[in-house]
Amino acid sequence: MTESVLCKKKLEGKVVIVTGGASGIGETTAHLFASHGARMVVIADIQDELAQSVVESIGLNLACYIHCDVTDEEQVKAMVEWTVQNYGKLDIMFSNAGIFSRSNQTIVDLDFSAFDQLFATNVRGMAACVKHAANAMVKGHVRGSIVCTASVAASCGDKKHIDYFMSKHAVLGLVRSASQQLGEHGIRVNCVSPYVVATPMACHALGMDAEQVGKLYEERLVLKGVVLKAKHVADAVLFLASDDSECVTGHNLVVDGGVLAK
Ligand code: NAD
Repeated sequence: MTESVLCKKKLEGKVVIVTGGASGIGETTAHLFASHGARMVVIADIQDELAQSVVESIGLNLACYIHCDVTDEEQVKAMVEWTVQNYGKLDIMFSNAGIFSRSNQTIVDLDFSAFDQLFATNVRGMAACVKHAANAMVKGHVRGSIVCTASVAASCGDKKHIDYFMSKHAVLGLVRSASQQLGEHGIRVNCVSPYVVATPMACHALGMDAEQVGKLYEERLVLKGVVLKAKHVADAVLFLASDDSECVTGHNLVVDGGVLAK
């Protein structure tokens, strides 16, 4: 087999949006999408300087940045419309932007202003991205792929962070329902569910640096000899985004080194 066959590019000519692409899982996935031949990777985020530096490291001919706060539906609509106007279509939406609980957030001390802010991003923002991506795909007759970032927190409970766990359960409901509603248009909707990855979000939440987070959570994986990294999640997103998963929709692809199977 020739090397070119072995290294087949999976997103040749595709126009993709990555929300939360300035950092962590989104940043790594944006790089992977570009390396797989995506025609344009549109990074949508609120961290302007960081996002610009990601665009520059990918290459100005392969990626661009648009400021978009996913909590504001008008900004999401405008961002998707801008993408279609400039690049002709939308093939893939990776709806990934998310935030973590501001404090411990147990049911007895639940702070609803923090809850509302978290839901505005993790649930409402996620739904707005799916909604406007789906509308663009239907209108453009594109058999597109929508991938959301859920979490292992979508499939279990915890002693803390009830707002975050509730929000990720909602992402599963969004993905499963949207997959049923968009199937007739040939649009697939799936999600990835990572366990703890040492991104800026996780490091900040845990008050540790990336090495400490990696070490602590490596021990918690059932699968030994591996540290869960953003690259592992990006690989799963690439599978769901590409034609490799042509018949997969409504699926929750867990990337957790066996933790949820316990
Ligand atoms: P991160 O903080 O490194 O990246 C999140 C990005 O989202 C940032 O660039 C941030 O600016 C952006 N963002 C936040 N609010 C936004 C908004 N309103 N509009 C647009 N962009 C916004 O964190 P990450 O760990 O890469 O998180 C990415 C996703 O992965 C999140 O949905 C998170 O819940 C999920 N997740 C993370 C982990 C983990 O351990 N890191 C585990 C499971 C799921």
